[in-house]
Amino acid sequence: FAKASGRNLYRFFDPVMHSQSAERLTLENELRRGIERDELLLYYQPQIDVASGRIVGLEALVRWKHPSMGLIQPSRFVPIAEQTGLIVPLGAWVLRRACTDLRQLQDMGLNNVSIGVNISARQFTDSDVLSQIQQAIEETGIDPQHLDVEITESTLMNNPEHVISYLERMKGLGIRLSIDDFGTGYSSLNYLKRFPVDTLKIDRSFVIDIADNPKDEAIAVTIITLAHSMGMTVLAEGVEHARQAEILANHRCDIIQGFLYGKPMSLPDAIAELQMGRNIAMPEKKAH
Ligand code: C2E
Ligand code: MG
Ligand code: MG
Ligand code: MG
Repeated sequence: FAKASGRNLYRFFDPVMHSQSAERLTLENELRRGIERDELLLYYQPQIDVASGRIVGLEALVRWKHPSMGLIQPSRFVPIAEQTGLIVPLGAWVLRRACTDLRQLQDMGLNNVSIGVNISARQFTDSDVLSQIQQAIEETGIDPQHLDVEITESTLMNNPEHVISYLERMKGLGIRLSIDDFGTGYSSLNYLKRFPVDTLKIDRSFVIDIADNPKDEAIAVTIITLAHSMGMTVLAEGVEHARQAEILANHRCDIIQGFLYGKPMSLPDAIAELQMGRNIAMPEKKAH
């Protein structure tokens, strides 16, 4: 038998492929168990207002503290969660946890900071994320204007007509909406103008080489102008170097997020940062 269909069999038993799918299956089962056993945790990355140097937001980024494998990054398990549908219970947990944490901040008098929560496409198609948000707001008693729901551009463009009315209902809860990874999807400007969105998040891929590649700078300028002309706020992701921040600030980018100003950190560390209440030194804007 092995001889008869030799090539296919060889491919089927390709050790690399085999170990990859085995790892996936293990991770999937482990993740299902991990969600039940409360092994997920949220890290928070600061978002800095360029004008004031203040932390105005914290993006919630999920981590998985596996009992033997240690801390696992979302790039390793969020895609698997999305493919298997586990993103639905995972996402529900994230939403609840983030709202509980936001409530804690608001109870401490830290009222001027928002928490950003990432929502995947399948949470829209496979669950009633609107009711989940509404419930989380009611049960935690948070001020909803400080909950910032991040949806990627590609998720929004999946079924835009349907998405618009859904987003309008989400806005009806009093929350903020952001488009994540902006510039990497295929936005139709006709839809973009109809999405009731507060913030565009410029994807990190345009920021990485912004100091050396004039085309990346041109794209960033275009997104900033586009956002402002539609009355939206604009945030740049993945800012690691002062020079990148300087260019973005000169082009009137409103908010900056990146390792330059802070990596994702535990809630207590984020609270300590907020309580210091310092004004982070931001690049001077050049006069135009
Ligand atoms: P994202 O929502 O675009 O989040 C930004 C990612 O960029 C985070 O990676 C963050 O740590 C990273 N980052 C921020 N600043 C810098 C920087 O200056 N340099 C570099 N190299 N990276 C930076 P992270 O935490 O690994 O998350 C990766 C992605 O996983 C997220 O991308 C998001 O798509 C997804 N994700 C994370 N948490 C959740 C969640 O709770 N729910 C869902 N549905 N997706 C999540
Ligand atoms: Mg995000
Ligand atoms: Mg992003
Ligand atoms: Mg991303």
